[in-house]
Amino acid sequence: MERTFLMIKPDGVQRGLVGDIISRFETKGFTLVGMKAMTVSKELAEKHYAVHRDKPFFGSLVDFIISGPVIAMVWQGNGVITSARKLIGATNPLSAEPGTIRGDYGLTIGRNIIHGSDALETAEAEIDLWFDAGELIAWESCQRPWLYE
Ligand code: GDP
Ligand code: MG
Repeated sequence: MERTFLMIKPDGVQRGLVGDIISRFETKGFTLVGMKAMTVSKELAEKHYAVHRDKPFFGSLVDFIISGPVIAMVWQGNGVITSARKLIGATNPLSAEPGTIRGDYGLTIGRNIIHGSDALETAEAEIDLWFDAGELIAWESCQRPWLYE
């Protein structure tokens, strides 16, 4: 079953949005298989956003991610990578559709509440980067027969 890495950024935690955000993925039908509250080291933040290291916003992005606690999560389910990106919305919250997390709660690109992996390879790499195998649980929701034919 497909898995993705999601991380509620320090602004989402500080603004009290953790419960609402988790609820959106839960009620969609996805399964939570790993979660931890943590403060992020500079090294981890720089590795996670390495693809952006040459961008002008890289320094402020890393400083922001290490500025307070985050909620790191692994979610599982049919099409979860693309579906989670849709539930999250466009990178710039002002362009994100209402009904998406960023569209409902954000105002600026530098405070856009949540990260979600963008493809299968990045999801696998990010899950490996953020979680040890022993931190992920294998379980089946009792809702499964009502979510999948
Ligand atoms: P995402 O996959 O939708 O999160 O977007 P990207 O991978 O393009 O960028 C990663 C993160 O860098 C975004 O979520 C923003 O927090 C930040 N970011 C991207 N573009 C900009 C920008 O132009 N300015 C600033 N300040 N931050 C940006
Ligand atoms: Mg991205």
